Amino acid sequence: PRLRALAAEAAPLPSVETLLRQALRDDAAATLREGGVIRGGYDVTFDELCRQRDHSGEFLAELEERERKQTGIKALRIEYNRVHGYFLEVPRSQAGAVPEHYSRRQTLKNAERYIIPELKDFEDQILGATDKALARERWLYEDLLERLAPSLADMQRCARALAELDVLGSYADRAVALELTQPELVERPCIEIKGGRHPLVEASLTDNTFIANDVALDDDTRMLLVTGPNMGGKSTYMRQIALTTLLAHTGCFVPALGARIGPIDRIFTRIGAGDDLAGGRSTFMVEMTEMAHILRNATPHSLVLVDEIGRGTSTYDGLALAWACADALATQVGAFTLFSTHYFELTSLAERLRATANVHLDATEHAGEVVFLYAVRPGPASQSYGLQVARLAGIPDPVVAVARAKLETLERQYAEAMQLDPPAQMQLFEPRPRGADLIARLGALQPDAMTPREALQAIYELKALASGDDDR
Ligand code: ADP
Repeated sequence: PRLRALAAEAAPLPSVETLLRQALRDDAAATLREGGVIRGGYDVTFDELCRQRDHSGEFLAELEERERKQTGIKALRIEYNRVHGYFLEVPRSQAGAVPEHYSRRQTLKNAERYIIPELKDFEDQILGATDKALARERWLYEDLLERLAPSLADMQRCARALAELDVLGSYADRAVALELTQPELVERPCIEIKGGRHPLVEASLTDNTFIANDVALDDDTRMLLVTGPNMGGKSTYMRQIALTTLLAHTGCFVPALGARIGPIDRIFTRIGAGDDLAGGRSTFMVEMTEMAHILRNATPHSLVLVDEIGRGTSTYDGLALAWACADALATQVGAFTLFSTHYFELTSLAERLRATANVHLDATEHAGEVVFLYAVRPGPASQSYGLQVARLAGIPDPVVAVARAKLETLERQYAEAMQLDPPAQMQLFEPRPRGADLIARLGALQPDAMTPREALQAIYELKALASGDDDR
């Protein structure tokens, strides 16, 4: 029924069509600035101006040829300059052969310059023919608009109908070509997708190996914390959910085996790492600006994608901000949220926050190489595989080896710190600044007032403090 209604609305408008065909060139220019819009034959005055503009060269060549023959002066030429306009130029030596009706304009060292009435008339006509033609064309165009004005509403209706047909036509075409399915739009707040795909990533894979994934967001699960290795498929997963939601709401079929989509007021994204140096904003600033916009504008009916937050600053800063943003999205905003992060510490939020769950993109290690499985699984990721992915990217082996050694040191220190100072998360945000303790003790020492035995004792104490053996 909709197509029938559109066909009626897009019915031809014969009088408008005739007028447009008469008035406009088939290759009409997109703007009127340099003309090229009005068709020849539409207006006599315009045609004549165009003829003068386009054929001045021919006319002058003919006139020059004729005057040469009539006067017998082979060196006669027609020239133009801005001060004197058009003139006939004859070498001084042959000035005697010039006929009487030539009137002298100017005498130069080697030449005489003349005009004749015919050339003067031509000049009056031709100068500005270009301008006049353009002015006439503009006027004709304005006039055309006025003549079309009564049909404006009809034309707009027709254009709207054609636009809608165009959209529906390409939706239908894509639905078949990309094997899309009809989503179910429901009143209940939810985003439930079975076998969802990302149509662009899927199309880019040559071997037909896209791994489809499900999602189920509803009032019981409003936020998913998405972890997994770099290149593991987190962005793809999050974006395909947003794309499917958007397509469903525009009336398009969706890239999934099945989808049930509730009302969504807006989709917000904080995606991609990019700076805006020309605009004076660092990567971190861009991220924070986008996040601020989300926190201030998203509602419980929104879908929010946060693809990493808190990069471009110190690890603790970044983690603390990511933590607070996730917390605010879950507890204050309450939007449907997909939150991907490399801060493993954030996964503990799922235990503390209502309606929050962990999922991860599966990967495994085979012969020292990371193998991505692209399947979404419940629970947090167990490893980040950062070094393996860095190697894949081409970071030289010696650099990766140094990174591995450093990572081991950091992890050992971290584990020690965790044992000393539970609970874990608090430790992470407020590590006891052992260096600060050391400096304070050192600062308090008064070497001149110490006996050698006291000095030795102080060294033992400082050593114990430095290796964490004291009883703090
Ligand atoms: P991440 O965000 O975790 O770093 P991406 O989503 O950017 O990872 O995915 C990296 C690449 O992995 C994609 O460009 C694509 O080639 C491949 N990929 C991602 N998801 C899938 C999937 N579901 N099936 C097959 N390949 C995938």
